[in-house]
Amino acid sequence: MTNHLFSLIRDGVPDPAKTAIETPEGRRYTYADLIARSGAYAAALRAAGVQPGDRVAVQVEKSPEVILLYLGVVRAGAVFLPLNTAYTPAEIGYFLGDAEPALFVCDPGRRDALTEAAAGVRTIWTLDGAGGGSAADAADRQGSGGGAFADVVRGPEDLAAILYTSGTTGRSKGAMLTHDNLASNARTLVAYWRFTADDVLIHALPVFHTHGLFVAINTVLASGGSMLFLPRLDPKLILSLMPRASVLMGVPTFYTRLLKEPGLTPEAAKGMRLFVSGSAPLLAETHREWQARTGHAILERYGMTETNMSTSNPYAGDRVAGTVGFPLPGVSLRVVPPEGGPALGPDTVGMIEVKGPNVFQGYWRMPEKTAAEFRADGFFITGDLGKVDARGYVHIVGRGKDLIISGGFNVYPKEVETEIDALPGVIESAVIGLGHPDFGEAVTAVVVGGAGCPDEAGVQAALEGRLARFKCPKRVLFVDELPRNTMGKVQKNLLREAHAALYRD
Ligand code: AMP
Repeated sequence: MTNHLFSLIRDGVPDPAKTAIETPEGRRYTYADLIARSGAYAAALRAAGVQPGDRVAVQVEKSPEVILLYLGVVRAGAVFLPLNTAYTPAEIGYFLGDAEPALFVCDPGRRDALTEAAAGVRTIWTLDGAGGGSAADAADRQGSGGGAFADVVRGPEDLAAILYTSGTTGRSKGAMLTHDNLASNARTLVAYWRFTADDVLIHALPVFHTHGLFVAINTVLASGGSMLFLPRLDPKLILSLMPRASVLMGVPTFYTRLLKEPGLTPEAAKGMRLFVSGSAPLLAETHREWQARTGHAILERYGMTETNMSTSNPYAGDRVAGTVGFPLPGVSLRVVPPEGGPALGPDTVGMIEVKGPNVFQGYWRMPEKTAAEFRADGFFITGDLGKVDARGYVHIVGRGKDLIISGGFNVYPKEVETEIDALPGVIESAVIGLGHPDFGEAVTAVVVGGAGCPDEAGVQAALEGRLARFKCPKRVLFVDELPRNTMGKVQKNLLREAHAALYRD
């Protein structure tokens, strides 16, 4: 009887003296430190009355201590609940009220501002900082006994984490993830991406999100590898660390920002073996430019908070730009008509559904929402539209809610964006549907233009003949940059809100 998720890490420790996490300032945590310190956190949580199954909510800036706390929560049998550092006290109030954690950990500087939001929570700690009530102090009080902490027994089906979805429509929902959702996905990714104890990952993603927390950290720790742990995306620092690293995981913005660095050369990337991208679509052009500049083909994968990772381009085979590769081993993926029904044939766009050990258990305290997003045969309705091509590669076309219905015809924004992005001078674009008195919704393009970019009439003229008339944008708006969230996703909801009245005036 073990702690299912933590055993994966504990059993894989190559050498206790090996570095697990290192910061750019040279702070090092060996695997022995990681086990001792996470044990001390686990003991401190138990001493504070945290019971197996209790939620521990955490809103703190990124640091290696957060990772040790995460592991401590798992070892204490509790449920880790990280919260985006950008959330305001009012938003935190909603999450704490919904999740009812036994304990809430925040940054010392935010403690006063969050007191009201956390009024219903029994214990509030800061992660570190002066004075009592800090997680670090509580762990310190456990002394060196932390390494001997007896992990609370947790089986594959027990909850390990709740991650709230970003909730661009309606209330944010808490995705319940079990020990095996996380452990099985980590095991799969270790094998599929060929991670070993020799790997050194450059970690520059946030740790409140599935990508930086689970894909990156669980995969590295399950393989006994190491991490160079950066507080945030810093292209120059990443470049300077590449000679010491083997893998980078990033959102597409990482790659576009790194491409602006003159120092990005085949020589700089020589020791790297893998560049992974996900969480938002990687432009085919970025893929091509990266290959030309470094000699490496970026490996794009697809997943979401609710499903962990579902597909990946192959390690050894063709990494096809603009696709997210094949379903991972053990994951079933199908494309069906959005209203349900039998799987569609190759190259036909529909709703992507997945099933497998990676898929979450449902939304926290929202049984109706959960029921509405699973089919009777257990497939989860991802909300993403896409297709599988004749070679089996999965293509993501966009979120279902971004689909535009104009004059009764379906318009997939990605198809229009691809045409616009290919025009000389266009940097990128987002295509949205806006309320229109005649068409219901009007296809509208929001374009970031560089030197030589055509104007509105020029874009429209260039698309004529390339796209059916109903797909051509009725208006083309120009902006300096597209609104993106911290994971690099374009926030089309903000664009729709900002321009809601465009056709009504
Ligand atoms: P999140 O739950 O924040 O990880 O967001 C998941 C969503 O991000 C998915 O449902 C997709 O819409 C999108 N996404 C993730 N990876 C990719 C990818 N490689 N290409 C396109 N969209 C992606």
